[in-house]
Amino acid sequence: CGIIARIGQGEAADTLLSGLENLEYRGYDSAGIAVQNGSGVKVHKTAGEVSDLKSTLETRPHGNVGIGHTRWSTHGPPTDENAHPHTDMAGDVAVVHNGIIDNYDELRTELTAKGHEFESDTDTEVIPHLIDEYLRSATDTEQAVRQAVETLEGSYALAAIVDGEERVYAARKGSPLVLGLDDEEWFLASDVPAFLDHTDQVIYLEDGDLVVLEPDTYRIMDLQGNTRERSIDTVDWDP
Ligand code: GLU
Repeated sequence: CGIIARIGQGEAADTLLSGLENLEYRGYDSAGIAVQNGSGVKVHKTAGEVSDLKSTLETRPHGNVGIGHTRWSTHGPPTDENAHPHTDMAGDVAVVHNGIIDNYDELRTELTAKGHEFESDTDTEVIPHLIDEYLRSATDTEQAVRQAVETLEGSYALAAIVDGEERVYAARKGSPLVLGLDDEEWFLASDVPAFLDHTDQVIYLEDGDLVVLEPDTYRIMDLQGNTRERSIDTVDWDP
């Protein structure tokens, strides 16, 4: 239902949590965040509200790169396990996703045959496992993400982080995703209110876009890796 991602200097967790609160108006049944700090991806998620998520966090997880999600269940009931972010088995790849992966059943069967074990009932969980699978042979993470995205059928806006990488990877097809550009930090979200407290400079992404955010560069490309040039818009939002 709702996605937020953030990269920049300083801590990500509070920005992710307030971004999720700003997306609450869309309705949801579960919430979660994942933060990366070079020594592991830390995932916190729960069925219920963002306030429930906050109360499970005694202290904020440290890291300047992170993703967050509010879930509106389509595959699997609203439980803690089914809340996003979802990870691969090692917990090195974390993914949030809006939409529906139509071929998840077939992908899950293939991945299970290759030794992957699943922890949730969601369609989404195949995505981090697919990235992990492609990482074994890909030249870099960008290629593995691209291959995983190419394998997906259905609708998605998704964002991923990977242990040890100061990057956010994202893609969309049939679900909205917008890039927010502030001087010091960059965002991805399903909707502008998620980051409007920080910036009104946006790039609306299009179907087939793949995005890589780094602390001082961003790249938008197609699934073949060709750069797509996009202009920056100023949001005229009257709350
Ligand atoms: N299909 C996914 C799920 O059921 C994502 C739902 C959403 O867009 O929030 O977990």
